[in-house]
Amino acid sequence: MSQAEIGLIGLGTMGAMLALNIAEKGFPIAVWNRTVATTRAFHENAGDLAARITPTETLQALVAAIKPPRAIILMVPAGPVVDDEIAALTPLLSPGDMIIDAGNANFHDTDRRAADAAKGGPRFLGIGVSGGEEGARHGPSIMGGGERADWDRVAHILEAISAKYEGTPCATYMGPGGAGHFVKAVHNGIEYADMQMIAEVYGVMRDGMGLSAAEIAEVFQGWNAGPLQSYLIEISGEVAAATDPIGGGPILDMILDRAGQKGTGRWTAIEAQHLAAPITVIEAAVAARNISARLPERQAGQALFGAAPVGLGTGALSIDTLEQALICGKILCYAQGFAMISAAAAAFDWPLPLPDIARVWREGCIIRSAMLNDMATALTDHPDRNLMLAPAFADRLMATHVALRNAVAAAAVHGLPMPALSAGLAYFDMMRTARSTANLIQGQRDFFGAHGFDRLDGADSHHGPWGSHG
Ligand code: NDP
Repeated sequence: MSQAEIGLIGLGTMGAMLALNIAEKGFPIAVWNRTVATTRAFHENAGDLAARITPTETLQALVAAIKPPRAIILMVPAGPVVDDEIAALTPLLSPGDMIIDAGNANFHDTDRRAADAAKGGPRFLGIGVSGGEEGARHGPSIMGGGERADWDRVAHILEAISAKYEGTPCATYMGPGGAGHFVKAVHNGIEYADMQMIAEVYGVMRDGMGLSAAEIAEVFQGWNAGPLQSYLIEISGEVAAATDPIGGGPILDMILDRAGQKGTGRWTAIEAQHLAAPITVIEAAVAARNISARLPERQAGQALFGAAPVGLGTGALSIDTLEQALICGKILCYAQGFAMISAAAAAFDWPLPLPDIARVWREGCIIRSAMLNDMATALTDHPDRNLMLAPAFADRLMATHVALRNAVAAAAVHGLPMPALSAGLAYFDMMRTARSTANLIQGQRDFFGAHGFDRLDGADSHHGPWGSHG
């Protein structure tokens, strides 16, 4: 007899936790994994929840175990594996059955898969799930994309398993096709930037001020009780405070400084270029991870040029200045991220709900923070206004941009890299400059390419008096 409300393929880190979460919320679930031993071990270890979980060892058995019209979640690596699973499932499914890709798909792939569904394939939803292993188990943030009717069919399950912010589910429909995975990609881009900015002030404290990991942990713990309250500041404090089980010193001092990535930040940066949306803080963070990976080159660089001068001392910058700088950088980064989402809404004709995006990020996801609630309020008033122009955030930028300037300036003088924070500062300064230097760019473009330019005293296109080009 078909009993399960929903199915799930892929019992890896995320899939296993999501399946337990679904079962815990009272929804019988059938599961299948490529490696059968994993399915068996998962079921054996599911404790009380095992009664609501049907382990299956073939895709046919999985499909047979789910009530029609079926919904089957894929939690497998993004890319060809998703296409392979869709191809394997499609002949086994009936009209009205639905596949839900909950991995970190590139939204262009999700658009293509949604288009295939519209041509008669199985129904298809692409949902972004954030919160890591812990979020998947106890409440992730969920960003849905596809046909609204398909989302509505499974929304009760997705809302039940999602994180709650003061009782409101952090699971929201974002729009058609790849809209959910697009918003998830921007989330991940912001995540890269948040992490990089925190790492930059960590660098000032460690290399500039000579603070120990334990002292830095205390700083993060203090900041987590103020305007910077966020999951990423909280875990930065925990990482800095943790002891190395082997050597007994701070584990942070033993971790190799080469950052990994699965590509979602890079996708965001690439898409931002297509959309002509400036997300310079995120781009700097993606580049910083790439530079971190070039360890032998960095070592050769230090051997050739010598280490950066540093010698910042404790007098040059205060912890309070660093906190204010981080607040300022964070606002600028989010302003860029939301502006990119606005640009995508216009370019793809997606009704992306900006205030709801801020709301859905308030709990469950990696970038959850106290500031997102205020962002949701500001975006509710004016969804299309750059967040840095919203009064609540303009006031905060006014109060903190001098600190950001001082931090970036001191870091530059002392050779401490601050790529993301300085990108934020440059964005701030460009966005407050009514008369920019692009007049020279236009003059140059006209000189070599006869591209023409508008004059300040009239809107028509003109050419300059440059010799044969004039
Ligand atoms: P894991 O590597 O832990 O698990 C991958 C799962 O996919 C396993 O069940 C594996 O099966 C299965 N799988 C791998 N290759 C194939 C294949 N060729 N055919 C069929 N099944 C296959 O990955 P995660 O759980 O971490 O990630 C899953 C998805 O979730 C990814 O898209 C990831 O980007 C996304 N995600 C991950 C987050 C995280 O924090 N880890 C957060 C948010 C999203 P087997 O046991 O046989 O190897």
